[in-house]
Amino acid sequence: MGHKLHWREKKTVSLRSGGLCPVPPPWLCSQLQEDRMGTDMAAPGQPRCTSYDAIVIGAGIQGSFAAYHLAQRRRNTLLLEQFFLPHSRGSSHGQSRITRSAYPQEHYAHMMPHSFHLWQQLEDEAGIPLYRRTGLVVLGLPGDPKLEGCRRSMGPDAVLDAVTLAQRFPGLRPRPGEVALWDRSGGVLLADRALRAVQDAFCRRGGTVRDGEKVLRIDPGAVITVTTTAGLYRAPRLIIAAGAWTNAVVAPLGLRLPLQPLRIDVCYWREKEPGSGGAVTPCFMATGLPYAPHGIYGLPALEYPGLVKVCYHHGSPTDPEERDRIPSGSPRPHVSLLSNFISSYLPGLEPQPAVLESCLYTNTPDGDFILDQHPKYSNIIIGLASQAMGSNWPQWWGSCYAS
Ligand SMILES: Cc1cc2nc3c(=O)[nH]c(=O)nc-3n(C[C@H](O)[C@H](O)[C@H](O)COP(=O)(O)OP(=O)(O)OC[C@H]3O[C@@H](n4cnc5c(N)ncnc54)[C@H](O)[C@@H]3O)c2cc1C
Repeated sequence: MGHKLHWREKKTVSLRSGGLCPVPPPWLCSQLQEDRMGTDMAAPGQPRCTSYDAIVIGAGIQGSFAAYHLAQRRRNTLLLEQFFLPHSRGSSHGQSRITRSAYPQEHYAHMMPHSFHLWQQLEDEAGIPLYRRTGLVVLGLPGDPKLEGCRRSMGPDAVLDAVTLAQRFPGLRPRPGEVALWDRSGGVLLADRALRAVQDAFCRRGGTVRDGEKVLRIDPGAVITVTTTAGLYRAPRLIIAAGAWTNAVVAPLGLRLPLQPLRIDVCYWREKEPGSGGAVTPCFMATGLPYAPHGIYGLPALEYPGLVKVCYHHGSPTDPEERDRIPSGSPRPHVSLLSNFISSYLPGLEPQPAVLESCLYTNTPDGDFILDQHPKYSNIIIGLASQAMGSNWPQWWGSCYAS
């Protein structure tokens, strides 16, 4: 079975690197759980149906944290994922995400101290670093609503003068008149590691992961039945954390949410002079640029030595099943926009990307989260992390799911 082999390989790597604690691989978790859990007798020729306290659809960062919190509350929980883990088809893959307190919305800024605390707890349990504090610079023109919102939520001391900015971020050349704010709590979340750590912590608490199983059908009721490509599962509670596939999963339940999946160009830019500082710079966000209205953000070199990640905070509408179907030779306007930005703001980087990858955002109309019960079936919860913020609070969010 492909996924058993895959998880064995993954454990070997993590143990050899002295990383995560040994835990039973998810397929073994599944078998142990089935021995322990109610497995309803099936009629001859019918698939067996296994019962749980809760089922979570989607093993991205949101669904994995929801499952973890349920298991922490001693709920026998099944986490279903359509692809074999780890995978790079959704929104949670990759080595790095920015975490920050600098938000224009004060409520998000206020949630961050607790969020950092929860990351710290997971880090302690995993025994490996999941977060690297680098600080974060927010750059923009006075009067820009996002910049002013961040300035309000961070307080007047956050403003950096030009000399300090040049010391902390020598490679960054702001335009005349731009203001820089300093978020000292900002940094890089080691995304793939964090995802694996939470899935392992879930398994250690007796949770069951079934990857390579796509959910095909949901039959609502006091006890919900979920049919996948490989089995039948029942639980009194269902959490849907399906990211860009959310509408495909909820449509048969009579819902159509106003979501827009976007294909994001994830670009990495080479230092002109190797070792010139790309690895030790802070994270940054540039807001209010007339040619990049959704903003640009960057992280120090991490994934690839000497390559700095700088991306546009927007993408092209897509269907998650068709993400990579881009006609050859078609223009990449967001890459051109980033090249312009690099030439003027980060002249120490080559202005053509050295590596170009893809990822998915799923935007809600107002850019905020969705976390709610199905209007008709209150034991079905639907959650979605809009835009590039879903890595900041998945633990907080997961605990809301589970409560
Ligand atoms: C390029 C990029 C940069 C980002 N940067 C940041 C950042 O700096 N800071 C930040 O906070 N956030 C950032 N984000 C956002 C953050 O990564 C996402 O919000 C978060 O990963 C979303 O997680 P998710 O679990 O909701 O979605 P996903 O990771 O997509 O998980 C959904 C899962 O559901 C599974 N699924 C769907 N349908 C089914 C089905 N029928 N059966 C079984 N499984 C199913 C999918 O396969 C998928 O694994 C970034 C995102 C991208 C793409």
